[in-house]
Amino acid sequence: MSSYQAWRVHEKDGQYVGGVETLDTDDLPEGDVLIRVTHSSLNYKDALSATGNKGVTRSFPHTPGIDAAGEVVESATGTPAVGQQVIVTGYDLGMNTAGGFGEYIRVPARWVVAMPQGWNARRAMVYGTAGLTAGLSVAKLLKMGASPEQGPVAVSGASGAVGSVALEILSGLGFKVTAISGKADQADALTKLGAVELLGRDALDPEKKPLLKPRFANAVDTVGGSPLAELLKQVMPGGSVSCCGLVAGPQLETTVLPFILRGINLLGVDSVEIPLAEKESVWSRLAGEWACPVTEASARDIGMDELDDALQAFLKGQSAGSLVLVH
Ligand code: NDP
Repeated sequence: MSSYQAWRVHEKDGQYVGGVETLDTDDLPEGDVLIRVTHSSLNYKDALSATGNKGVTRSFPHTPGIDAAGEVVESATGTPAVGQQVIVTGYDLGMNTAGGFGEYIRVPARWVVAMPQGWNARRAMVYGTAGLTAGLSVAKLLKMGASPEQGPVAVSGASGAVGSVALEILSGLGFKVTAISGKADQADALTKLGAVELLGRDALDPEKKPLLKPRFANAVDTVGGSPLAELLKQVMPGGSVSCCGLVAGPQLETTVLPFILRGINLLGVDSVEIPLAEKESVWSRLAGEWACPVTEASARDIGMDELDDALQAFLKGQSAGSLVLVH
């Protein structure tokens, strides 16, 4: 039994209020592995959980945090071992299972990824679920045979958490990346991440034609909705588009023409429920040949006392760069 601090959200009269509390590890859910969390990272989903979105978190009080990294202090299965540094992201962490905004979590062993060699908890949490999703998006393109020689690759929502890591990985792999972004003031940052061409969101404004001039060999789409439908019309024959997000909407209104006349592949990306081995493979690449030095250099540490403001910024669309919660 250990007492610990957590940023916990209570529901009172329809209002959701978060703050630091002292809790006890005995009150954590059952699970194989008790982890002392040293770092977490902030995601839009955490902001939804913290403000009572019932699609994310059903009951309160609740400790959000869909990402966590730290050291194993108890292990019923022996794997992972006590003392091992580990990462946990996705599955139910931070949704209806107490998450990384607390100094301890208890989770099933099958959720736990061993820390890649030479890495540490802070570096892992600079990437977090967003970085993992970017890596999975790139991995899907590569699996379909995408290569720099085929032509430019587009990244939509390029200044966002997923888009910026996808951009930096692809640029590091030698792809010529076209960054599609609604933020003119992020032009320098996107160029620093490796973009060779910058387009405004109007490049994906709705057009009546079912097909447009092919412009991109492949693409990573993080926004969904009508921009994704427009992107599909501009992909070269045989090209692929990874799709992970819905900030521009969950609806996808398209025709079959990009698929049957140009052989385009639309590749779905889920970072949450996939088998652990797929997560491990991407984490080890992020810690190796896919490392993103620009993203790492710009990440910012915050404490639990800054969580409220940081989560509000997410909801207002004002978040920028990777935020690491340090316990
Ligand atoms: P961010 O909020 O950090 O970035 C999203 C970016 O999309 C923004 O920075 C902006 O970039 C662009 N954008 C925002 N609103 C619109 C709009 N209305 N139309 C077009 N573009 C818009 O989010 P993340 O990068 O963390 O996540 C991106 C998406 O991926 C989200 O929908 C998220 O839920 C999803 N996601 C999915 C996961 C999965 O497992 N499938 C895991 C993680 C995230 P700019 O200004 O540069 O255009």
